Amino acid sequence: MTMQQKMWTWHAWSHVCALVGLYFIVQNNAWAYLALGVILAFIAQVFASISLHRYLAHKSFKTGPIRDIFLRYITIWTGLGPSIMWVIAHRHHHAHSDTPEDFQNPRIIGKLRSWFTLYPTLYFSPRWGKDLYNNKHNRFVYNHYWKIQFSLYLILFIINPYLCFSVLALPAVACFHGAASIGVLTHVWGYRPHNSRDSSTNNWLANILMPGEGWHNHHHSRPGDYRYGHKWWEWDPPAWVIEKFLKTHDR
Ligand SMILES: [Zn+2]
Repeated sequence: MTMQQKMWTWHAWSHVCALVGLYFIVQNNAWAYLALGVILAFIAQVFASISLHRYLAHKSFKTGPIRDIFLRYITIWTGLGPSIMWVIAHRHHHAHSDTPEDFQNPRIIGKLRSWFTLYPTLYFSPRWGKDLYNNKHNRFVYNHYWKIQFSLYLILFIINPYLCFSVLALPAVACFHGAASIGVLTHVWGYRPHNSRDSSTNNWLANILMPGEGWHNHHHSRPGDYRYGHKWWEWDPPAWVIEKFLKTHDR
């Protein structure tokens, strides 16, 4: 099985587990697990933005050694794939944004194909991800990704099957659709305060679906800045977490 087929299978698994979990929650009135899942989904999205995107892909802030290791492993929870793979694909996207070489370009391959990641992508390229491949923690995540994911499911299932829904499946589904909304919506609709060389936009709906990431035109015009919301109303919870708890100094 190729890495791409593994990723599609994984996303299908997360969606099935989320739907099955939701069915049992409704049947048994176990609404507390839905509430827990929604809270954890929000936190997972914030950490997907902080760890995969702002820290690993763009190196937009520096942090302490313990927090560095934490940010490399928390990527597993987001369900968006091994960090090396995600970062390589993302750096390639920035380099070729809105050109035919941009695999995920919704204007070329279509919005649905882009949303559901039905396109070829890079899984390893020394040009785009050598720094991550040289890090033992990122290599460990890459080499053991599926074992870790399914072990987590097994452990939580033994403790309480509802936790598979709240802690793993719903956060992974939320991160998947949140990231998809950024790949599609913020390259098609929205306002453009910066005249960047691509068609990136700021889109408030995408910012609800993936908190802090919807201000994509700001991000594409200044990829090294960890602050994506520039106006007071451009809600950016990942930047707040970075500022308060993670950043030791700027890049
Ligand atoms: Zn980026």
